Amino acid sequence: MKIRVLGCYGGQLLGFHLSSFLINDTILLDAGSPTIILTLEEQRHIEHAFISHTHLDHIQGIAFLADNRSLKRLSDEIVNRYITIHSLQENLDTISKHFLNNLVWPDFTMIPNAEDPILKFRPIKPYQATVIDGLSITPIPMNHPVPCTGFLLDQDGKQFIYSADTGVNDAIWDVANKQSNLCGLIIDCSFPNNYQFLADISGHMTPKQMAQDLKKLDKLGEIPIYLFHMKPETLAIMSKEIDVENIPNLRMLTQDDEFLL
Ligand SMILES: [Zn+2]
Ligand SMILES: [Zn+2]
Repeated sequence: MKIRVLGCYGGQLLGFHLSSFLINDTILLDAGSPTIILTLEEQRHIEHAFISHTHLDHIQGIAFLADNRSLKRLSDEIVNRYITIHSLQENLDTISKHFLNNLVWPDFTMIPNAEDPILKFRPIKPYQATVIDGLSITPIPMNHPVPCTGFLLDQDGKQFIYSADTGVNDAIWDVANKQSNLCGLIIDCSFPNNYQFLADISGHMTPKQMAQDLKKLDKLGEIPIYLFHMKPETLAIMSKEIDVENIPNLRMLTQDDEFLL
């Protein structure tokens, strides 16, 4: 399994990109920044996008990915004619109604026509796996103000978990502790400790709270843990607060990270 970080921040600033991960070169987990990181050639290899929830920092790239794919289709032969968007049914409904609604952006599920569109929607359900080329992707429900799932990835007997956006949440630890060979996880850590009130109402975590919640992980210290969704302007203070927690095998994710499992 190959996991390439395209963006890992909960805010957008010069040089800091929104959350998006490319799995095995063909599958996106969240679409915060695919079109500003990937070349057109790399983008055309994307066949699937699994979307955790409908906040703009996770879906904005769908708009430009679809636009680029449609132009590519017009200009030359293309292998992957469409991209399948996988998300909870309520999230797909929100995207149709409020985003790709022909007002904010064209409805690429109908372009160029309904029979052969650029985007196809496929609803997913919590705990029901989708298998693509040997990679199993299972949604795990998270704690966020809108419907949201993280994802368990499982390939060749190795598992990896991406929490997506979440506050304190037992479901992720239940799933994590059941895996036979969990090789790592990416978990929300968005705000410094003195913004705990904001983390509580917005369904995110602070270093202190994240450290507390991580105690539920049986393999704590044994497997690498990567923090993501930090607000870029608070990185310096958050870095100090994370150091204070002194958790082994834990660090902030970076945009240059790539993992081969
Ligand atoms: Zn987010
Ligand atoms: Zn969110």
